[in-house]
Amino acid sequence: MKLKTSHSVQPDSKIRLAHIPTDKTGRYKSKQESIEDLERHRERLDALQELLSASAQKSLLLVLQGMDTGGKDGTIRHIFSGVNPQGCQVTPFKVPTPLELRHDFLWRAHRAAPAKGMIGIFNRSHYEDVLVVRVHKRISDKEAHQRMREIVGWEQMLADNGTVILKFFLHISYEEQTRRLAARLKDPNKQWKISDSDFTERKFWPDYQLAYQDMLSRTSRQHAPWFIIPSDNKWYRNVVISEILVQTLEGMKLKYPKPTFNPAKAKLD
Ligand code: AMP
Ligand code: MG
Repeated sequence: MKLKTSHSVQPDSKIRLAHIPTDKTGRYKSKQESIEDLERHRERLDALQELLSASAQKSLLLVLQGMDTGGKDGTIRHIFSGVNPQGCQVTPFKVPTPLELRHDFLWRAHRAAPAKGMIGIFNRSHYEDVLVVRVHKRISDKEAHQRMREIVGWEQMLADNGTVILKFFLHISYEEQTRRLAARLKDPNKQWKISDSDFTERKFWPDYQLAYQDMLSRTSRQHAPWFIIPSDNKWYRNVVISEILVQTLEGMKLKYPKPTFNPAKAKLD
């Protein structure tokens, strides 16, 4: 499916995250200009989700990855606020439980893969198993590459079975993360969102950027593309991701199923 966006990653292309701006806003000059579009996308998304559910032939899987404070939670809240909660399943990927660790790394992801008719949203994902564990040297580069090949194969299998996959990397700058953490530290209602790991992981910023760019170039495929979303401006992130979702769902050419009875002959007593 061809999408009208400049943010997608071509398979096996060389990615230099340092050369990709985090604060681009595309054709919009201000948040004000984007509000109407976001509202339109939200409404379309609600209608298209109903169609996805009614036709029950395909599913949509969204993968959200990014550094801490990158905006994964906010993306879900802003884009899906108008969609029927019955049609969406959000799965957060945390530090694996002892049970999860006794299985292969794709086990928990496969259990959370969306059934036909559903939108599945991964808040972090199976990609953590080639990111955080690689940065902390719990797996070698060779193992990371092996896992990436396994991910590509697994996603291909999902795609062959009717799952449309879209993967978003929320690209923020180090300075923007500093601003967001400082804002959270100051606001008593936001302090709960901060954990010790936010401070320790920041020290590994350059390693994460390297792990991310390797992952982006090795695992973007036609059947499961990555998009690098400039995310310093939350409003741009929201409008551009929602646009890609709407375009994708429209491109799926979904149809309501034919009624199983003849509506012309149905009688209400
Ligand atoms: P949060 O998204 O802020 O709730 O944090 C979840 C934490 O779980 C992050 O620090 C992730 O890096 C960590 N995490 C998620 N998946 C894995 C994994 N497979 N191995 C190790 N840590 C993980
Ligand atoms: Mg966090």
